[in-house]
Amino acid sequence: MENSEVNRLTQLLNDAKEVIKHQNIELTGLLETKSQELEEILGNIDQIIWYIDAKTLSIQYVNSAIDAIFGFTKEDFLADPTLWQQRIHPDDRLLVKSFFETLIPGASQEIRFRIHRVNGEICWLNSRIYHNVKLDLFVGITSDITESKLQSEEIAFLAYYDPLTMLANRSKLKLQLHSRLDHSPLVSFALIYLDLDNFKNINDTMGHDIGDQILIEVARRLREVSDQQHLLSRFGGDEFIILLNDSDPIRISAFCAQLNQIFKAPFTINEVPFFLSSSFGISVYPEDARNCEDLIKHADTAMHEAKKNGKNQFVYYHSSMQRAIHNFLHVESLIRDGLKHDFFELYFQPLVNAQSMTLQGFEALMRLPHPTHGFISPDTFISVAEKNGDIIHIGQIVIKQACDFIDMLRSHFCEPFYIAINVSAKQLHQINFAHELLDYIKTRKIDPCYLKIELTESAVMDNIEIASRQLHILKEGGVEISLDDFGTGYSSFAYLAQLPISTLKIDKSFIDTVGEIDSHSHIVKAISNLAHVLEMSVTAEGVETEKQFNFLVENHIDTLQGYFLSKPIKKEEILHNITTLTPFFLPEKALAYTI
Ligand code: C2E
Ligand code: CA
Ligand code: CA
Repeated sequence: MENSEVNRLTQLLNDAKEVIKHQNIELTGLLETKSQELEEILGNIDQIIWYIDAKTLSIQYVNSAIDAIFGFTKEDFLADPTLWQQRIHPDDRLLVKSFFETLIPGASQEIRFRIHRVNGEICWLNSRIYHNVKLDLFVGITSDITESKLQSEEIAFLAYYDPLTMLANRSKLKLQLHSRLDHSPLVSFALIYLDLDNFKNINDTMGHDIGDQILIEVARRLREVSDQQHLLSRFGGDEFIILLNDSDPIRISAFCAQLNQIFKAPFTINEVPFFLSSSFGISVYPEDARNCEDLIKHADTAMHEAKKNGKNQFVYYHSSMQRAIHNFLHVESLIRDGLKHDFFELYFQPLVNAQSMTLQGFEALMRLPHPTHGFISPDTFISVAEKNGDIIHIGQIVIKQACDFIDMLRSHFCEPFYIAINVSAKQLHQINFAHELLDYIKTRKIDPCYLKIELTESAVMDNIEIASRQLHILKEGGVEISLDDFGTGYSSFAYLAQLPISTLKIDKSFIDTVGEIDSHSHIVKAISNLAHVLEMSVTAEGVETEKQFNFLVENHIDTLQGYFLSKPIKKEEILHNITTLTPFFLPEKALAYTI
């Protein structure tokens, strides 16, 4: 080749190089601009975008979002490519490591883990990571989920914990029980059902704030005596359940003794000391039941047994208690039958004036003659009806039938006798009880003086505020009140004397032995004197013998009631006896009913 030709080609080559060089500069510039643009875009995203070497896990690229989340700059991470791993929470390092080891090439997967920010705070991250096999890189997008994680933890807390006492709630307890029964069915354990005694009184008289503070203190004391491995839960109002990781009776008893101990010291709220006790019921897995619901139910049953036995004690569940419940359910179903088919019927027992031997009125006593189960006594069905609330319905039937009887007597005689009806605590504590009763007798056009109410001391003392209000409304409305079973309660007589009560009915237990046991004779005389001083009248119930009868007449008892005079009888029989002047109450000379 000629020299000139070589020179020309060299020139061309140089020109071409120059062009390429220019183009290269341009391209690099372009690339730089583009990468700056990209950086600008990625820098404004608040998620961390990154990729790391799939083999060494060292950082190759990260955008500046990492600054805000970790508190280090992206340059720190690039200078020390393993820094990001050092910031992972020690408890989550293994999780992250095995995540990368098992990441499926070509697929993207998610992981949540914690890191420590530069200031030590814990931050929750969520990363979606992809394995780019061609470049052998892990590419990821990571976001800070601390806030939503905390929110969901708060939601979870509210779902499973009681915000007042910070103890587990009912759902958490059940969850734990189910998981125990599913995963370790061979491990035995016990449930202790704890219910504060008379807590309702504190709530009613001192207000809910004081009640709440007492519950918080109970929870604190419970924590103090229980092991980390027991689950303490607030099951409802003043009820707690402890899931005890133990079924050994000696150790359970020792633990219960400790529980009892926490109630020894007063609960001092706003410098006022409150003395509390608690009743405990215990059920044991698997002896007492094999499922969660029954275990709780049995512990509850045992707790009620503890209450019945005088509170402030612990009682183990026993299958005989279940029998009592079956009885309860049986009686309950008979009551429901009675309500549905109108089986309930009032009987009336004469109340006789002890001095004149004239008929004053009747006590209305409910009967449940069941066509297939026979005659069910009120001693059986009243307590069940009081527990399940049916007493409200039964009480309405009593009032209606009592009014029907008053109507019936009035249609035959000008001067009808009064009817005394028994009213339970549950009825009395119905906020509108007194008003509704007065309204009802008004619609029946019955003079309130023909109706009396009999209440026990405990019905009055259970909620003295409501009871007192109702009694005053009734009294103003013209309905008189007798205090039933008097002498068996423990209320202060001075207190009761301030209530608008017109009659004391001395309890049958004193009448039974009057004239035989000196102390009972003295009590009957004392009640009689005291009542008269307070301008109340006195009735003796359960008079069965002539001896009792004579003693009571001699000692100025005003009214007598009992089998000696007459048993409770049906209204048709009474009507027949009165109209035909047939003596129906003893002594036989007592024929002069005021007709
Ligand atoms: P209570 O109010 O103390 O009624 C008196 C009970 O003593 C009645 O029993 C009556 O039949 C019985 N009795 C009367 N005289 C004698 C006697 O000489 N000897 C003996 N052994 N007993 C006598 P009953 O009718 O079985 O009622 C029992 C309890 O059931 C009542 O006691 C009362 O607490 C409750 N009760 C009955 N009817 C009603 C009702 O309609 N409503 C409510 N809430 N309770 C009722
Ligand atoms: Ca009564
Ligand atoms: Ca009575």
